[in-house]
Amino acid sequence: MIFKHLIDRLIVAPHYLANYGYTDGSGEYYIAIDTDKCNGCAECVKVCPAQILEIITDDYDQEVAVIKEKKRKNIKYECAGCKPVSNRPELPCVRACKPIAIKHSW
Ligand code: SF4
Ligand code: SF4
Repeated sequence: MIFKHLIDRLIVAPHYLANYGYTDGSGEYYIAIDTDKCNGCAECVKVCPAQILEIITDDYDQEVAVIKEKKRKNIKYECAGCKPVSNRPELPCVRACKPIAIKHSW
């Protein structure tokens, strides 16, 4: 039984990272949301000054955060206000996310 339990744990699906953004000549601009960790609490939505995040119900009937579709090709500029060149503070969306589900590539 213990062996079966270990096997069950080993075959649990890996975290699913939903990546939103793009690559251009100046770099890679992606926001990744771990949909296994995201609990749909909407704290990131509340604190985002650019209002690029929203909560949707996904294919598994779970509420998760996503980047709004019309903002995905512009996130470098949408997020610029949170990302000064020097003395960059912790990002509001990252700070608000208790399950640590949000990562930025830049
Ligand atoms: S704060 Fe984190 S857990 Fe809550 S909705 Fe946003 S990404 Fe998901
Ligand atoms: S970095 Fe700022 S603008 Fe970009 S998603 Fe996070 S809170 Fe919103």
